[in-house]
Amino acid sequence: MINYEKILTDKIQQIPPSGIRKFFDVAATMKDVISLGVGEPDFVTPWAIREAGIYSLEKGRTYYTANAGLLELREEICNYTGRKYGVEYDARTEALVTVGGSEAIDLMIRCVINSGDEVLVPEPSFVCYKPCTYMAGGVPVPIETKEEDNFRLLPEQLREHITDKTKLLILPFPNNPTGGVMSRKDLEAIAEVLRGTDIMVLSDEIYGELRYDSEGHTPFSAIDGMRERTVVVNGFSKTFAMTGWRLGYALGPAPIIKAMTKLHQYGIMSSPTTSQFAAIEALRSCDKDVENMCREYNYRRRYIVDGFRSMGLSCFEPLGAFYVFPCIKSLGMTSEEFAEKLLQEEKVAVVPGNAFGESGEGFIRCSYAYSVENIEEALTRIARFVERYKK
Ligand code: PLP
Repeated sequence: MINYEKILTDKIQQIPPSGIRKFFDVAATMKDVISLGVGEPDFVTPWAIREAGIYSLEKGRTYYTANAGLLELREEICNYTGRKYGVEYDARTEALVTVGGSEAIDLMIRCVINSGDEVLVPEPSFVCYKPCTYMAGGVPVPIETKEEDNFRLLPEQLREHITDKTKLLILPFPNNPTGGVMSRKDLEAIAEVLRGTDIMVLSDEIYGELRYDSEGHTPFSAIDGMRERTVVVNGFSKTFAMTGWRLGYALGPAPIIKAMTKLHQYGIMSSPTTSQFAAIEALRSCDKDVENMCREYNYRRRYIVDGFRSMGLSCFEPLGAFYVFPCIKSLGMTSEEFAEKLLQEEKVAVVPGNAFGESGEGFIRCSYAYSVENIEEALTRIARFVERYKK
């Protein structure tokens, strides 16, 4: 008999499974469950994009592409970033097409982290930064962002957490799960702390297009002097409702992109070809579709925030992504207790806030990338639940 505990590495055994999935595995076995759980658009990928994918298959484009991705796609990515944000990248040396933003995050961390290097991770935040850091031999250092600071990273917090081992700062904005964003002014204050250091930045801007305030998104690389130390991660999953196509990208300094491409080449070879052809169409012709989806999310955002507030819960107003992060501390139970009881008693699936780091304790994450009818029914059930447990 093989003892698999001896076979699997210590590192992989010490990494906990994602707290997001845990609830859905249970929910999937139950009937009539309403979910506000998954961070995935309920829209189908816009038709023009699907058609471009189908057309590429019809034409028999079923080969590997260049390791870094189709040059035509990289050029479109760079055009898009220039057109939207005024930041210019060279398609040949500063862009890499990856299997989702997820792969880009993993590659960047593995390419810059040596054993013992510290990675600053503002939390609550997406679940992959810490495990990727850990697998790369690095040490994740959480920085708690607070509701009273609008879940932003403050420059003084950053300063306090920098040591001589700090190698990388993750900037996870617009944020999953809080919906918090950083304005240009906020980013400038962060840049001020980083100037004169060698600290690199991984700016996860996968929700950059989903902003609901008039200022809109600023890539960290657009801030004076930050381009040379920043890898921007973006992708097609959220903006274009393309989660299943598994396509993302990284933009950054040529030596870093070159290293990431090397790792990508050995691990992946090239990102899915059909998806790459479809993505060219997304960037070229789907601004209107994105605008329409964003308008719909915005409507749902207001609806769900109002819903939680009218239950008497404190609910931060998210300005980006498609999540709300209401505070459930007043009910005297932990996030996990809340999520478990809610699932058992009212058949609503939400994600406990502590899945996104300890500082998420006392909150739950609800996605509003669901139909209004779905949200309405979920809110009715949650309100009943909250009423029952209110102190
Ligand atoms: N970054 C954040 C903040 C996310 O929420 C997600 C997905 O939920 C990802 C990255 C990865 O997305 P994908 O790999 O589908 O591009």
